[in-house]
Amino acid sequence: MDTMTEAPPLTFPAIWRHQNLLDLERLRSDELQAILATAQTLKNLTDGCRRKLSLLSGKTCANLFFENSTRTRNSFSLAAKRLGADTVEFSSSGSSVAKGETFVDTAKTIEAMGVDWVVTRHHTPGTPHLLARELKCSVLNAGDGPHEHPTQGLLDILTILQNRGPSDWTDPGVNASELLSGMTIAMVGDIAHSRTARSNIWGLKALGAHVIICGPPTLVSHRWEEIGFEVAHRLDDIVQRCDVLNLLRIQFERQYTRPFPSVREYAALYAMNGDRMRRAKEDILIMAPGPINRGVEITPEVADGPHSVILEQVTNGIAVRMAALWLLAGAHDRASKSN
Ligand code: ASP
Repeated sequence: MDTMTEAPPLTFPAIWRHQNLLDLERLRSDELQAILATAQTLKNLTDGCRRKLSLLSGKTCANLFFENSTRTRNSFSLAAKRLGADTVEFSSSGSSVAKGETFVDTAKTIEAMGVDWVVTRHHTPGTPHLLARELKCSVLNAGDGPHEHPTQGLLDILTILQNRGPSDWTDPGVNASELLSGMTIAMVGDIAHSRTARSNIWGLKALGAHVIICGPPTLVSHRWEEIGFEVAHRLDDIVQRCDVLNLLRIQFERQYTRPFPSVREYAALYAMNGDRMRRAKEDILIMAPGPINRGVEITPEVADGPHSVILEQVTNGIAVRMAALWLLAGAHDRASKSN
């Protein structure tokens, strides 16, 4: 790891006004383009998210996680540190929450320690939105139950752009919508309980991609068709025409009844395996938000094969989180100056 280098000149996108990142459903396509382009620029400036810059030095990021996390928590911490910020780690076990303190009081206590961003993950949908109303600092949603996981949606879209766009896709004039509008991208699996699915669906729709929502009828509502998405219940019906497959984990921890007869039957119908790969487009991209369950939604030969970009997604997580922290801090500082 290099020592920290001087902050490079980086132009703040004039259209970016948000002080919180709560979901992708309410972001416009130019805002999505701004955050994705900033992520790509920061990835380049940090040598693939490895070098440190001093863009956010003097600021502090608190991780307030009430659910398990490997990738997201470490990725937010690394993103903050790569841009020179300090980090505070909070875990609900062993904290005052166990003594009866409310979620909002805990968050306000952490904020009072001089924190600039609170990154939160909670099993209840809407908790980041509640914090955004209660706190003065910026709030980032790192997953609110089955609702949304906006940085996961962004890192997935960034990975598609990097693999399918020209190398100069962030240059003025090259636009994410133009690159995505001809593409067919399927979200496959447990749509009902997946925040990753929802963030991808809204982000990809805003950027003009053709999104197919595929999974067992018990996990894919036909309501999606009413709002303009293609719904499929058999992976075999769509695999030949997809440019990207994003394979979701079955969220057993959020299910109260069993939505299909057996995991073996699920895998037979929905797992991406060698046989389905032979019927797919030659340049298909295989994605998964992780953690993956080998043999359920994806077989090892596909997960570790040449079409898989699963580990690139992880690296891009740091890039989009650096961009989110930097953009929210910029919007926050501008708003405080104008008050
Ligand atoms: N890591 C993602 C999430 O937190 C996906 C998953 O858990 O399956 O939602």
